[in-house]
Amino acid sequence: CGIVGYAGPGTGRRTEQDVDLGPGPSQRPLEVVIEGLRRLEYRGYDSAGVALVGPDTEDVAFAKKAGKLVNLRTELADRSLPAATAAVGHTRWATHGGPTDGNAHPHLADAGRLAVIHNGIIENYSELRRTLAAEGATFRSETDTEVAAHLLAREYRAAGDLTAAMVATAGHLRGTFTLLAVHADAPDTVVGARHDSPLVVGLGEGENFLGSDVAAFVAQTKEAMELGQDQVVTITPTSVSVVDFEGRPAEGKRFTVDWDAAA
Ligand code: GLU
Repeated sequence: CGIVGYAGPGTGRRTEQDVDLGPGPSQRPLEVVIEGLRRLEYRGYDSAGVALVGPDTEDVAFAKKAGKLVNLRTELADRSLPAATAAVGHTRWATHGGPTDGNAHPHLADAGRLAVIHNGIIENYSELRRTLAAEGATFRSETDTEVAAHLLAREYRAAGDLTAAMVATAGHLRGTFTLLAVHADAPDTVVGARHDSPLVVGLGEGENFLGSDVAAFVAQTKEAMELGQDQVVTITPTSVSVVDFEGRPAEGKRFTVDWDAAA
């Protein structure tokens, strides 16, 4: 339902908002994502989750909880979290599988090194699930989304590159989707794809953002780029690159957000 992504330094200024996740390394990536989810709450949701990767993370660090954002924040407050350089966050409106902790996003694959969040509905998930399970994937949820995580892991093993893997994954999916993924192998990168579901890039200085709408990052930057239909985007702190579902270079549409970030 709501999607936020961030690639940027694990250090630097804190957000002005009330998100304070306690001691430990600067948690700007996590703070940005939680703040973005808070601003997407107006869309309604039944569960929330985050996934983080950083230079020292062997596996994706993640937390996900049914219920309001406060449940996720309570869960995070009790955890010691690694310094992250890329993060994704999701608020879920369940379509396939009930609103439980286990069905909340992110969904993990590649032995916990890859995490995916998803807006929309993957219509051909049951046949994909059968194929992937036959190939050895272990499913842990009842969602349609989880097939995208295992597919991406499979394509990543084949391609060795997250962007190429996302292009290949998008080619297998029917339905509507905005997908974001992080992998522990690429701790400064978030890759996303969209088909019949929105995805917008927020352009920062030394950091970049992704959101299902500009509310996700408008507190951080007003410079934005809307992705076109059937595009894959890869952000790092200092780069944004876009390709189409054939893997050919493409471009989003630049614009400046003209509304105020108050509240
Ligand atoms: N179909 C997915 C699920 O049920 C995503 C729902 C959403 O857009 O939040 O988990």
